[in-house]
Amino acid sequence: MPKQTPEERIRNFNEVALGFTPELAIEEASRCLECKNSPCMGGCPVEINIPDFVKHIAEGDFKSAIKVLKEKNALPAVCGRVCPQEEQCEKVCILGKKMEPVAIGRLERFAADWEAAQGTPERPQIEPSTGKKIAVIGAGPAGLTVASDLIVKGHEVTIFEALHEPGGVLIYGIPEFRLPKAIVKREMEYVQSLGVKVYYDFVVGRTKTVYRLLDEFNAIFVGSGAGLPWFMGIPGENLNGVFSANEYLTRVNLMKGYLFPKFDTPIKRPCRVAVFGGGNVAMDSARTALRLGADESHIVYRRSREELPARLEEVENAEEEGVIFDFLTLPIRMIGDERGWLKGIECLKMELGEPDSSGRRKPVPIDGSEFIVDFDASVCAIGNSPNPLIAQTTPELKIGKKGNIEADEETGKTSMDRIWAGGDVVTGAATVINAMGAGRKAARSIHEYLISLKNQGL
Ligand code: FAD
Repeated sequence: MPKQTPEERIRNFNEVALGFTPELAIEEASRCLECKNSPCMGGCPVEINIPDFVKHIAEGDFKSAIKVLKEKNALPAVCGRVCPQEEQCEKVCILGKKMEPVAIGRLERFAADWEAAQGTPERPQIEPSTGKKIAVIGAGPAGLTVASDLIVKGHEVTIFEALHEPGGVLIYGIPEFRLPKAIVKREMEYVQSLGVKVYYDFVVGRTKTVYRLLDEFNAIFVGSGAGLPWFMGIPGENLNGVFSANEYLTRVNLMKGYLFPKFDTPIKRPCRVAVFGGGNVAMDSARTALRLGADESHIVYRRSREELPARLEEVENAEEEGVIFDFLTLPIRMIGDERGWLKGIECLKMELGEPDSSGRRKPVPIDGSEFIVDFDASVCAIGNSPNPLIAQTTPELKIGKKGNIEADEETGKTSMDRIWAGGDVVTGAATVINAMGAGRKAARSIHEYLISLKNQGL
């Protein structure tokens, strides 16, 4: 797929990948072998009929392609951009055994962008009103999927969102250069056009508790995500210039810090940044730092390149842009100047030992290998826990060891009657498509419950 050149793109926040032209999309779709057993469909957590939509693209019938996609996915332009297809549908594509698999994600993105360029999107048929009301907590991918699945079934859906904009991590976490915010807004407008009501700046657990919502709604879905950042727990993490990835990316993405002072929120423009972690969040932070003008942006990771959990495409993008990878390196102390600003980080060299419980080789410190490097900012991107407020204010909800809400994997049912949950708040930080898949399963279960109420005349 055509991309901005690295030299060009590190000077702007515009999207890196430019998308297929219709000709390229048809050519790519025509590579599909139309396998009888369609393994790609088994690799899709939201059960999209992949061979069908790809076939429509190969025939140049883009309208039918997007229709098929939207039967199962209310956010195709988002998923086409950020889903780890290489680990899901594309991983099991038969073509992939001998050559590149069909670029299913890029075709999904193409179909969604094509529809947007045509103007008003097609809307599904909404079933007659059931008179049943559902509250959805959180407007991230999980909540939006539940909302769009249930509104078409004729239920009344209201979303309560803590922030002033919808999208969850899609809007405050993933940077503009990977997922333009206009696209998230467009997909949100589509969900709202189906009739979903949304209240912003509404923090469930503060503005109203779950118990109060239970008085007003027949069912509740909790999709409040995993927005509580982890820190390293090393000395000096309270210094100025030390950020969590959540704060760093929220300042830039949601609050438009890169346009300060036109927008109110400032963001430090450091010279040398160290980003701790090796996932997508770390890549996004390191690449954001370059776009903010950093002379050097480092990924400091305690294992080797092979173990990086980020999508390969994003690792390659980061490498092309000049992000420096300090592998087998563990930060152990932040060093400040006399005014309390970060000026350096003490690190230890590591080596890989035996595989640990994750199946990856365990990093082991090398004695006496301490060294100090100059950095004037650091971003910690080592993980997040579920947002704790709902658990704290709803003591009857069963909570797991990691602060996650416990919910049935197949139905999303929690330990409390009339409450379902799904997405990162249940699994811990995961992926957009997994959050959407959990939303889909919960919506199915909520629908069955609401219809049973209706059938009993309740
Ligand atoms: P979220 O997206 O976190 O949404 C939860 C929503 O609930 C938020 O809007 C929040 O404000 C709201 N909320 C929280 N508490 C309350 C409350 N008490 N009351 C009301 N509202 C509340 N995944 C991928 O698949 N591919 C990627 O490339 C990728 N890159 C990522 C990059 C970054 C920087 C980050 C942080 C994550 C990335 N992910 C990626 C992960 C993915 O974005 C998440 O797994 C997904 O967004 C989870 O969806 P969710 O709906 O469960 O939660």
